[in-house]
Amino acid sequence: MVGSGPAGLTFARVLHRHGHPVTVLERDTAPDARPPGGTLDLHEGLGQLALDKAGLLAQFQALSRPEGQAMRILDTDGTVLRDWRPRPDDRAHPEIDRGQLRDLLLGPLDVRWGRGVTRVAPGTRDGVPVHFTDGRQETFDLVVGADGAWSRTRPAVSPVTPHYTGVTLVETSLADVDTRHPGLARLIGDGSLAVYGVNRALVAQRGSGGHVKVYAQFRAPLDRDANRDPADAEAVRSSLLALFDGWAAPVLDLLRHGTAFARRPLHVLPVSHTWPHVRGVTLLGDAAHLMPPLGAGANLAMLEGAELAEAVAAAGPGDLDGAVRAFEERMWARAGRWARITADGLERLVSPDPAEALALFDEVQSS
Ligand SMILES: Cc1cc2nc3c(=O)[nH]c(=O)nc-3n(C[C@H](O)[C@H](O)[C@H](O)COP(=O)(O)OP(=O)(O)OC[C@H]3O[C@@H](n4cnc5c(N)ncnc54)[C@H](O)[C@@H]3O)c2cc1C
Repeated sequence: MVGSGPAGLTFARVLHRHGHPVTVLERDTAPDARPPGGTLDLHEGLGQLALDKAGLLAQFQALSRPEGQAMRILDTDGTVLRDWRPRPDDRAHPEIDRGQLRDLLLGPLDVRWGRGVTRVAPGTRDGVPVHFTDGRQETFDLVVGADGAWSRTRPAVSPVTPHYTGVTLVETSLADVDTRHPGLARLIGDGSLAVYGVNRALVAQRGSGGHVKVYAQFRAPLDRDANRDPADAEAVRSSLLALFDGWAAPVLDLLRHGTAFARRPLHVLPVSHTWPHVRGVTLLGDAAHLMPPLGAGANLAMLEGAELAEAVAAAGPGDLDGAVRAFEERMWARAGRWARITADGLERLVSPDPAEALALFDEVQSS
């Protein structure tokens, strides 16, 4: 298994539950080598089903925040357009901090930290050689590439690489929002706040402990601001304030009070990315089907991890390749549907007509 994101850890945890050994190879040197990121909503039939297969659903329910499903949408002048709150018993897609989810999945797993993979080379009779950044090489029966958007495993099965969507996201954070910025805390509420303008949007999402992630999204050429130093927070802030000029003051406060900024141009793999099956290597999650971040990627990654683990655990030594092949067909069909939904969703959420974003929200709520 290459990668200890949601896909890799769920795969390893479900295999572990079935009593099978698995080696997790992770480039990061420790679980907390990078900030874990914001919050994830896990859907009942996807991420939550995967946690059930891992025997972790009850622990997820204890940690997750059903109230985080709340969604408020404002006009750029600050008028509240929608203020949706979940019923107290609504468990359709509660939120959990990424760090909490990682720790939950890690549990007893033995991850080999600091083992960056450079290349996977299928085609030998004795297994699949994996090459590491330190120059070493090891051979495995089955290599599962769950190493994300810029997967080093993917070239072993597919020549396709991600392409830019035309939308860039700049992320910033607010800490202790209830104490330090009570006005913003009330504006955001228990879950998410979204404001949609012409070809741009601002989204704020509450995590646990008063932590808020703010995502500024806009259409821009890939190289816009590419030369700007992302560590120069004041320069990034003033560029964003210029881009969102004229929006209501409390909304712009989300940018004014943000601390560090990270620029993330949104890349995707083609909708319905598949590959001719290669014995001994497969892909999961973003490595297989990178799509816009509209609440599906981690969910799919986890369910795929759980399903592949169950298929591997159930297969006899002679059936392993057939089990992987059947899994891939199933993954491609489901991921293809979600890739289309999220690609269309991004077009409507960051669109020349902000009414499209509101219409999309209403369609999802009524479905
Ligand atoms: C801003 C944002 C918000 C999002 N919100 C949601 C949400 O609410 N719900 C949702 O379902 N999805 C969401 N997503 C999408 C979700 O984050 C991804 O789809 C998900 O993380 C994919 O999981 P993964 O395990 O496939 O890959 P990743 O999470 O990218 O994990 C890959 C792992 O592989 C490791 N790795 C990479 N290269 C190597 C290498 N060469 N050797 C060894 N290890 C390597 C990495 O360090 C990492 O640990 C969001 C994405 C973004 C950007």
